[in-house]
Amino acid sequence: MKIGVLALQGAVAEHMRSLEAAGAEAVAVKRMEQLDELDGLVIPGGESTTIGKLIRKYNFMEAIQSFSQQGKPLFGTCAGLILLADRIEGQEEAHLRLMDMIVARNAFGRQRESFETDLDVKGIDEPVRAVFIRAPLIKEVGKNVDVLSTYKGEIVTARQGHLLASSYHPELTDDFRLHAYFVDMVKEAAASR
Ligand code: GLN
Repeated sequence: MKIGVLALQGAVAEHMRSLEAAGAEAVAVKRMEQLDELDGLVIPGGESTTIGKLIRKYNFMEAIQSFSQQGKPLFGTCAGLILLADRIEGQEEAHLRLMDMIVARNAFGRQRESFETDLDVKGIDEPVRAVFIRAPLIKEVGKNVDVLSTYKGEIVTARQGHLLASSYHPELTDDFRLHAYFVDMVKEAAASR
């Protein structure tokens, strides 16, 4: 499977390393034309407003939406989760609006802006190591969205069919199982296309 990592800003190399460890071929995506040759796409963490501006500037908005319409999987981590959301709390405008959820940015408050923890994730046997950095939260999900994990009662991992989102950075650890989970989603989607 060939999986792209949107390389406009943020933790690109780390995601590529984790995808390769999970058995996929990883590609840094800088131009929208590259999407045609890919089976799946990761939208990394970074700063969502900045990545959102660059997505518009380099004409990725419609290209990524049509990538999703073809049933090709997307995985958004941290800022990437914010980019996938249908609504962002306190903001007029959202970005790709692909996942039926409302998210809140920087939702963990000052003392715990950054922390690490082990999370139970539905579909993965043992807890997953998760790094939260000024992380967003998923406040509400639509009925087609499956909650895969919560942290202190708040939703931090969710899946809607071929779309996966995590509040945290799975790529900053040596635990590649969430990437492996995504690679499996990409394989299933490719088999049914
Ligand atoms: N706080 C950032 C935002 O709102 C996301 C942080 C991250 O990706 N680590 O865009």
